[in-house]
Amino acid sequence: MEAVNVEKLKGVGEKTKADLELMGIETVEDLLNYFPYRYEMNEVKPLSELVHDEEVTLVGKVIHPPSVSFRGKVSRLTVAIQVEEAAVKAVVFNRTFAKNHLTPGKTVTLIGKWDAHRLQITVKTYKLGQPKSDTTIDPLYSLKGKLKMFQFKKIMKQAVDLYASKIEEIIPEHYLTDYKIPNRADAIRAIHLPHNKLELAHAKRRFTYEEFLLFQLKLHYLKDKNRKTNEGHIQVFPQDKVEQYKASLPFQLTDDQEKVLTDILKDMRAPYQMSRLLQGDVGSGKTAVATIALYATVLSGSQGAFMVPTEILAEQHFASLKEMFDDSMHIVLLTSSIKGKKRKAILEEIASGQANIVIGTHSLIQEEVIFKDLGLIIIDEQHRFGVKQRRMLRKKGIHPDVLFMTATPIPRTLAITAFGDIDVSTIRQLPAGRKEIETHWVTESYFDRVLSFVQKNIEKGEQAYIVTPLIEESEAFDYQNAIDLFNNLTQFYPEHIKVGLLHGRMNQEEKEEMMRQFANNEIQILVSTTVIEVGVNVPNATTMVIVNADRFGLSQLHQLRGRVGRGSKQSYCILIAEPKGEVGKERMQIMTETNDGFELSEADLKLRGPGDFFGNKQSGVPDFKVADIVHDYRALDVAREDAANIIYNGLINEPAYAALKKIVEEHAVFTDQFD
Ligand code: ADP
Ligand code: MG
Repeated sequence: MEAVNVEKLKGVGEKTKADLELMGIETVEDLLNYFPYRYEMNEVKPLSELVHDEEVTLVGKVIHPPSVSFRGKVSRLTVAIQVEEAAVKAVVFNRTFAKNHLTPGKTVTLIGKWDAHRLQITVKTYKLGQPKSDTTIDPLYSLKGKLKMFQFKKIMKQAVDLYASKIEEIIPEHYLTDYKIPNRADAIRAIHLPHNKLELAHAKRRFTYEEFLLFQLKLHYLKDKNRKTNEGHIQVFPQDKVEQYKASLPFQLTDDQEKVLTDILKDMRAPYQMSRLLQGDVGSGKTAVATIALYATVLSGSQGAFMVPTEILAEQHFASLKEMFDDSMHIVLLTSSIKGKKRKAILEEIASGQANIVIGTHSLIQEEVIFKDLGLIIIDEQHRFGVKQRRMLRKKGIHPDVLFMTATPIPRTLAITAFGDIDVSTIRQLPAGRKEIETHWVTESYFDRVLSFVQKNIEKGEQAYIVTPLIEESEAFDYQNAIDLFNNLTQFYPEHIKVGLLHGRMNQEEKEEMMRQFANNEIQILVSTTVIEVGVNVPNATTMVIVNADRFGLSQLHQLRGRVGRGSKQSYCILIAEPKGEVGKERMQIMTETNDGFELSEADLKLRGPGDFFGNKQSGVPDFKVADIVHDYRALDVAREDAANIIYNGLINEPAYAALKKIVEEHAVFTDQFD
């Protein structure tokens, strides 16, 4: 529709116009696209069905004139109303003027909180007369400035009556028929002035689909454009050599690993730059897949880089990678503790191309590191690195392929929305023969018994972690928590059981030294704040005790649990917690019921909502007005398929899609997630 200034509407003067502007509303179209944030539903029910303490709607006749009393400045009006055969007492605070409205014989509709014992209603709003229907739906908008709700609604009603029918459709007709959703004009009207629940539900369904479709179209549009314009690194390697190498491994890849590897190798051969996220639980075999991809890069004559967040991890990967190749593969390690002549030599090997694979920490992104020909980058625990760091590593090659890995599974719905512009591969199954970690949840009164259980396992030659939560409000307290626990345990256990302490205030060297001692079994129990969360591998550790477990998110608990169960022995995770609310109890319960990181992350998303899931700012999940990615996941799937079809099959250029194309081209901008 043509742009019409809101001033054209009756009742919109200078002041209202300014307030509307604060709300981002300048034209009538803006106004019509400003949706209620909530609806108040009121249903008139028989008295016998009303629930104590809930908000209810009553219709009745005033019996006696109201009486008003004061306590300080608070006025209290009471009036008897006949509802069905009963006399109900209605109480209205601070509205003495209601005395003139609620006169005997008048029929009134009252909305308020119901007291079933006293047959009394504390009135929130009242209207004279009967409601138009048994169910009223009252939209509520969030307003700015001095604008009042009734004023805004009046303006909105005018806009809807005069202009809603002029709203143009943007989605081609056949989608509407297929999904039985109303056209845009009808849906806009129903969102603001719904006649009934069903109509509102259909309107919401339409906008849910529209929001998802537009969002997915933008993502695929960008991806498509990126692939077409972005010259990648075509890597040429003989497939039979890759197969030979796979066959030489001491294990057979799982089906999931095979599938993911196929996707990765396909991207590497293709002329576009790979940008792929590989997610899978700890121990699901991501590194194994990455290793094969690195081998393929080397076969093609390029170099591979493997960046990990800590030195311990770099050393661990370095050692295990060397085991997976023979001596003809030249693998080097670059961390900040490698200095002097040795560092210089390694840097030269990287620059000359003599080094085939480089494993390292943040060191890899430093200016002094120059690759001869960087073909493939693997970034492990990708969320530990900032966008800038990932970008800097990427600049070290000419359009190198990039594989991001994460063991913090992202629920599928979030992956689709937040990371829609990169490809996501998932390993869900664990290699066969893994023993499930046994998880138990106990209350604090069991603490002594837990400690004895730990001792029993240590006497068998095994090791244990005991983790206390980080208390964000007070760093000092967090630190003190761990120290207190450490002191208590040192006293509790006999001399031959050595207890170590690891916390966030220690410097990197101290931490690494402590981890080394633990890895060498010089220490049997490691008391720690969450600093051990990332990737450490000590297969001899079989027990993970988490104190105040209810303070952790589910994904974090799962990560911590993943520190054990890495060897052949039976492992245990003991959660000590006394959660207050039902949600907290449910979270502990879920932990004992599943070892599947994806199930957990879906549950976490449901319990916490998408904003909290990533921790505010890096979420990348757009604020949808109507759609809800947790509840509307089916619509999301449908919209995603439609969007892919529209973009990759060229439908976007057909006349019926002109409106969609215009919106997509205007609004498609790169998210900063993985560029
Ligand atoms: P992730 O990187 O996902 O944590 P890794 O690749 O490090 O997992 O694998 C964990 C362990 O399992 C390693 O010791 C690895 O050698 C082994 N492994 C990987 N894939 C398989 C498989 N298909 N069958 C058996 N063992 C495997
Ligand atoms: Mg790993």
